Amino acid sequence: MSETHDTPGDEEMMTLDGNAAAGLLGRLFAFEVTVARIVCNGCQSDNPLAALRLYGQSMGSILRCPRCNAVLIRVVAREPEYWLDMRGVESLRVSL
Ligand SMILES: [Zn+2]
Repeated sequence: MSETHDTPGDEEMMTLDGNAAAGLLGRLFAFEVTVARIVCNGCQSDNPLAALRLYGQSMGSILRCPRCNAVLIRVVAREPEYWLDMRGVESLRVSL
């Protein structure tokens, strides 16, 4: 995924801010989330998001791995902001 650059000048020209990824990420995050495949960072099991275990919903939601029970995703909603912590996810895969 990363490119190598032979000269510092090339790297400077190739560096853009996050706005340049808005189109790509906008397409990626506009998917039906329940069909996303989640790989657990702890046990590497690969499950659809719909198979994860959901705990607690008053202060926030925690989604755990159905195999090893590791915390995969935390979501806290405090309108108008949402915090999403996915540090337990090794990868998220979607078919568009
Ligand atoms: Zn796991």
